[in-house]
Amino acid sequence: MFEKILIANRGEIALRIQRACRELGIKTVAVHSEADRDAKYVKLAEESVCIGPAPSSHSYLSVPAIIAAAEVTDAEAIHPGYGFLSENADFAERVESSGFVFIGPRPDSIRLMGDKVAAKDAMKKANVPCVPGSDGALPDNPDEIIRIAREVGYPVLIKAAGGGGGRGMRVVHTEAALLQSMQMTQAEAQTAFGNPMVYMERYLQKPRHVEFQVLADEHGNAIHLGERDCSMQRRHQKVIEEAPAPGLDPKLRDRIGERCAEACRSIGYRGAGTFEFLYEDGEFFFIEMNTRIQVEHPVTELVTGVDIVQEQLHIAAGEPLRYKQSDIRLSGHAIECRINAEHPYTFVPSPGRLTAWHPPGGPGIRVDSHVYQGYFVPPHYDSMIAKLLSFGKTRDQAIARMRGALMEMIVEGIQTNIPLHKDLMDDAAFQKGGTSIHYLEQKLSKDKGG
Ligand code: ADP
Repeated sequence: MFEKILIANRGEIALRIQRACRELGIKTVAVHSEADRDAKYVKLAEESVCIGPAPSSHSYLSVPAIIAAAEVTDAEAIHPGYGFLSENADFAERVESSGFVFIGPRPDSIRLMGDKVAAKDAMKKANVPCVPGSDGALPDNPDEIIRIAREVGYPVLIKAAGGGGGRGMRVVHTEAALLQSMQMTQAEAQTAFGNPMVYMERYLQKPRHVEFQVLADEHGNAIHLGERDCSMQRRHQKVIEEAPAPGLDPKLRDRIGERCAEACRSIGYRGAGTFEFLYEDGEFFFIEMNTRIQVEHPVTELVTGVDIVQEQLHIAAGEPLRYKQSDIRLSGHAIECRINAEHPYTFVPSPGRLTAWHPPGGPGIRVDSHVYQGYFVPPHYDSMIAKLLSFGKTRDQAIARMRGALMEMIVEGIQTNIPLHKDLMDDAAFQKGGTSIHYLEQKLSKDKGG
């Protein structure tokens, strides 16, 4: 196992990785921007290096600064967390060519999954069910495009091969709008991602977002840790996540989970990863794979008892997987609410100083957060300040515990989305479970209207 690693990230995930390291006796190097100098994990790290000014383009995204920090501190490996450089194949390559271990997949796996057309193609070959659509990128010939759209069936979704973060997508309802919509998406994709390639999928009308967590080692072993339901979204951003997905047939879970594990074996995947699917009328449709640890990984940890970040470290150190599929048993139900520094209904970010911070506690409650009373939430980064998790024997108990925790939680000095989460815990459709990815936006516009 490593003696010392560098954490190339900030916020709650930097602290989360540090906690995993501490338990394994690994020393940590925290890199930070000038805005994060006073962060808790920076003080708690064995060593820290300031890598630049507040804007992430000059700090958390600065490859030379991060590599230099690893060199001067003699770190053996680099954990990229999520966001920032975590899915940048060139960074992973640079890390390895500089003599460090990248705690994540091989660069070619990141590159493959970063191109959604290539990723879908690889998944089809691995027998993972995909959303019906064009066979690869759309051709130039207009008649051909019209023919493909008729075959797929309207409404269709035009998606950028290089897209991400919910950007680079356009729904088309009629043939009259098809060619122009495609050209617009191509132009946007060229500007935003430097790659004009687009493809087409059937636009599903009321799907749920259900994703499978996998772990794979470099010796050809791979397992899945079940699924998470992340359908409660606004603008393609997840707001609440839970495990397991309400009402999912265990046989179907095993079947799709095993397909994901098999796909990992067939592409030689290494590390933790997530297969994202849309789930509609009892069917799964692959949309993309994330080649990193995800924000919502703790709900899976709570129902499986597996520490996913520690497993990433074991895998990166070259060890064989410490679990077999038969060791993985799901028990109970877990929910995560993302607590953001933002207005609960306009969603305008609300950075500033925390004048009061009282996180909740008690049975079945977990809080992953880097903040403290007096902490200044910087305006430069993502607005998430905490992940509040509840665990119960049943989903109802997890909801009841979450409701109590939200009531106990006190955050003053900034605005947060805690009131929205309280509303959702009392929402009849959420309580029933199985709402679609459009539910939250429909509810918000209805509440505004009425
Ligand atoms: P990104 O990489 O930008 O997150 P995804 O392919 O994961 O892109 O899609 C993001 C979101 O867009 C999904 O969670 C879902 O809400 C919606 N979406 C994607 N593909 C489809 C589809 N074929 N039909 C309906 N909604 C879709």
